[in-house]
Amino acid sequence: MSILIIDDSRDIINITETFLKNAGYKDLVSCSSAEEAMTFVGLSENLSPNNDIELILMDIMMPGINGIELTMTIKNHEAFKDIPIIMLTANETVQDLQNSFAVGAMDYIKKPFKKEELLARVSSALRLKHEMDQRKAREKELLETMQQLETANKMLQTLSAIDSLTNIANRRFLDHYLYEEWRRAVRNEASLSIIMADIDHFKLYNDTHGHQAGDEVIKKVAAVLKAAVHRPGDLVARYGGEEFIVVLQDTGKEGGMQLAEKMRQNIFSLSIPHDKSSYGLVSLSLGVSSVVPTMESSTEKLINEADKALYKAKEKGRNRAEYYDGKG
Ligand code: GH3
Ligand code: MG
Ligand code: MG
Repeated sequence: MSILIIDDSRDIINITETFLKNAGYKDLVSCSSAEEAMTFVGLSENLSPNNDIELILMDIMMPGINGIELTMTIKNHEAFKDIPIIMLTANETVQDLQNSFAVGAMDYIKKPFKKEELLARVSSALRLKHEMDQRKAREKELLETMQQLETANKMLQTLSAIDSLTNIANRRFLDHYLYEEWRRAVRNEASLSIIMADIDHFKLYNDTHGHQAGDEVIKKVAAVLKAAVHRPGDLVARYGGEEFIVVLQDTGKEGGMQLAEKMRQNIFSLSIPHDKSSYGLVSLSLGVSSVVPTMESSTEKLINEADKALYKAKEKGRNRAEYYDGKG
């Protein structure tokens, strides 16, 4: 990494280089005008930025572009904004100094300067620069770690919300979702419906075709139920073994029953053979309940009512959807 000296006076460049060289700074470069410096740094058009500069000593008074203008140009460039710039001043006014600091200079040295003063200011500027570089590297590392953590957290959250067999929401997510939807419906005085669905005579299916074939049926049923809902707020979740719950926002009895009937038909149309069932095919019984929630009622009550409606569907002969009519 090099120190760049920009000054239109050859004498100043020479003395500065001598002081610095004697103090052990080996990598020194100099430019005698702002224009030359712009080319060297890579600020002129079509040039790539020179990444090798770690400190600039900059004369203020120069013919053409002066030191303050050049400092501003350098500091406005993303690649150079962190390079410390020390101004070399002669007879400048207080205003010049203020302007230098305003455009981003870090320090100034008044000419003619003593060796000790130059070295003290150069070493302090370099120390600050190194500390800043280290801090930036640590911040970058920290940011990367945080991003990795966030990704891992998101993955964990998804994993803990999804049922591994069916890839639809699990009971845990359902509980959380239903609670949130409940509160939303209370606020909006909106209806909320749920459908509880249960595969008919599934124990017999397992007994006849084996547990693995049973798992495949559960997967198919989950996929068909999921495909039957279309609104973004609708949720299909696996409630337990071969039971599912569908949550329907802003939906009352009629909408809930329509969807339940569609789901029943879609499952039956899969035509999965089930010899031990009354209909010879895998079928679904469904219970529907609706409510305009209030603070006094509860999600448990709504689920309980859907369960009662489901029981009614089973009793009436299965492969049907029933609505909870307030009885039982
Ligand atoms: P019903 O028509 O009254 O619902 O009869 P059913 O046999 O389906 O009812 P029951 O609740 O008695 O039995 C449910 C069966 O579902 C019991 C169990 O063998 C099966 N089951 C539950 N979870 C799973 C699962 O993850 N995979 C498989 N293959 N079977 C399951
Ligand atoms: Mg069951
Ligand atoms: Mg069942």
